[in-house]
Amino acid sequence: MDKKFKFSVWYLIAAFWALIFLQEIYLASKHQAEIPYSQFRSWVEQNKVSEVAISETIIHGQVKPEKEGESSRRFTTVRVQDPDLIHLLEEHQVKFEGVVVSTFWRDVASWVIPILLFAGVWIWIIRRMSEGQGGLMRIGQSKAKIYVERGVPVRFTDVAGVDEAKEELNEVIEFLKTPDKFTKVGGRIPKGVLLVGPPGTGKTLLAKAVAGEAGVPFFSISGSEFVEMFVGVGAARVRDLFEQAKSKAPCIIFLDELDALGKARGIGPMAHEEREQTLNQLLVEMDGFDSRAGVILLAATNRPEILDPALLRAGRFDRHVLVDRPDRKGRVAILKIHARTVTFEPDVKLDTIAGMTPGMVGADLANVINEAALLAVRHGREAVSQKELEEAVERVIAGLEKKNRVLNKAERERVAHHEVGHALVALSLPGADPVQKISIVPRGIAALGYTLQLPTEDRFLLTRTELETKIAVLLGGRVAEELIFGEASTGAHDDLRKATDIAKRMIKEYGMSESLGTVVLEPSAPPMFLQLQESPRAGDYSEQTAREIDCEVRRLIEVQRSLVTALLTSLKPALLEGAQRVLEKEVISGDDLRSILTMHKAAPIASDSPARPA
Ligand code: ADP
Ligand code: MG
Ligand code: ZN
Repeated sequence: MDKKFKFSVWYLIAAFWALIFLQEIYLASKHQAEIPYSQFRSWVEQNKVSEVAISETIIHGQVKPEKEGESSRRFTTVRVQDPDLIHLLEEHQVKFEGVVVSTFWRDVASWVIPILLFAGVWIWIIRRMSEGQGGLMRIGQSKAKIYVERGVPVRFTDVAGVDEAKEELNEVIEFLKTPDKFTKVGGRIPKGVLLVGPPGTGKTLLAKAVAGEAGVPFFSISGSEFVEMFVGVGAARVRDLFEQAKSKAPCIIFLDELDALGKARGIGPMAHEEREQTLNQLLVEMDGFDSRAGVILLAATNRPEILDPALLRAGRFDRHVLVDRPDRKGRVAILKIHARTVTFEPDVKLDTIAGMTPGMVGADLANVINEAALLAVRHGREAVSQKELEEAVERVIAGLEKKNRVLNKAERERVAHHEVGHALVALSLPGADPVQKISIVPRGIAALGYTLQLPTEDRFLLTRTELETKIAVLLGGRVAEELIFGEASTGAHDDLRKATDIAKRMIKEYGMSESLGTVVLEPSAPPMFLQLQESPRAGDYSEQTAREIDCEVRRLIEVQRSLVTALLTSLKPALLEGAQRVLEKEVISGDDLRSILTMHKAAPIASDSPARPA
């Protein structure tokens, strides 16, 4: 199907036409006069004609010379349908021949040319199609789409603010560098590591850095590229990817945007046949390869919750590494990385910039530096000054505000007091889970800040006091807001729902209410699939009891609320100072807050403490 062949098809067609054309010319060259058929007939009858050549449409003839030595004259006439002609020619002894050649070639041509034309067009279409899809004839060979990088230049020093993730990935690097060391001991090396985090936090960058640090080839392919038009292409591509990778071991396979491919099967308006096949193939390949062969699978996603559970099972992507938004310290480090290529005035303070950009991710910060450099150029400056950096922050925030990710100052103050409120209640009440850290770095879509409490041990039983303490801690945020700002906000929505849920369970499931007694008041059977419940409280109890449950829930929560209000009022100075500390640092540890608390407990509570934060 190369060029030569394609050309020769056209040559062949041209040759046929030329042949027919030449034949006509040859026959025409012999003719001299064109005469009517009637005249031709009468010449034959008068024995003037010596010989004729009959073709399909024309009769070429020669007239007998009238005298000896004279050359014979030639003529042509149009052949008409004349059944007598042959008989007539025989009668007058005229030599005649049929010119069969011309019809033969024309017949051949009339068959062959359309076939050749058709074949030509067909070949052309096939070629066009296969060019468009990177080789229709080579389906599944993903060479065009897999990106292999050797000698990846990215190092861990190019990624900042994700120290915990780096620490976890260190083991992977160690293994890729010296696989023997691990295989000798016989330990199981993780096959798949899933990087989870919001967009722009540096997941792709981190994966590259792992390859760069280990000095191994980096095969990367994006999940969306797997989902192709043709069923089966994606699966073939997966197979090919693993085959290629195995031949280059040790190496890293990086599946970016795994959620595009790994969506739970059967989710969505149409279960996507192609995606399912590809996903199945991926699972098969993951089970089939042994990480001891030196191939490590990395993947990244910002929506781990929609992934197919099969992908997350043991032996697949069972290790998850959180790549979270950077805190203030991390942001300084990221700014420094991106500042390496830009010239700054000596008085530039990146730390101030980091303080202005809570909630921003690495990609946003890279953008800030870039914007600042562009602004400096526009202002005709040699170096970037603090003014341009601050303007750049404003620009980037303006762009981000549409996505609703960056809190304004007042909101951050509220969130800080709210979180410290939770934490102080948890620190003060016995039986609460210890506070690990308090953060106002936005996390996920909903949480604006969080107080991380980690239980010290697994618990299977909870006492009544412990449940009440949980409710108290949940109310701490709301109460702190009211205490400091004088009114509540929508921020406590989730806390209140959880608190109400615990209270309801205490009464209905655990029989922990005096007035309703030790009975279980659960609906007798779980509602059937799609069965409409007649009323939201369709339980195995009366309307009267339902009303009593509502009252009891309210009472239970109210008791805790007044308790928490009293507690936080007495701890107001610690609340204010703790919140200030959080606003400054964004993340503080539970121990930090504990020392603030003990300091204020020792000092007598000043009655004229400031009611509002500075
Ligand atoms: P993700 O894959 O998580 O969406 P990327 O790795 O594609 O994010 O990040 C995009 C760009 O943002 C990177 O190329 C880098 O310039 C910058 N960036 C993001 N996170 C960091 C970080 N932690 N440290 C340094 N630069 C970062
Ligand atoms: Mg990415
Ligand atoms: Zn809260």
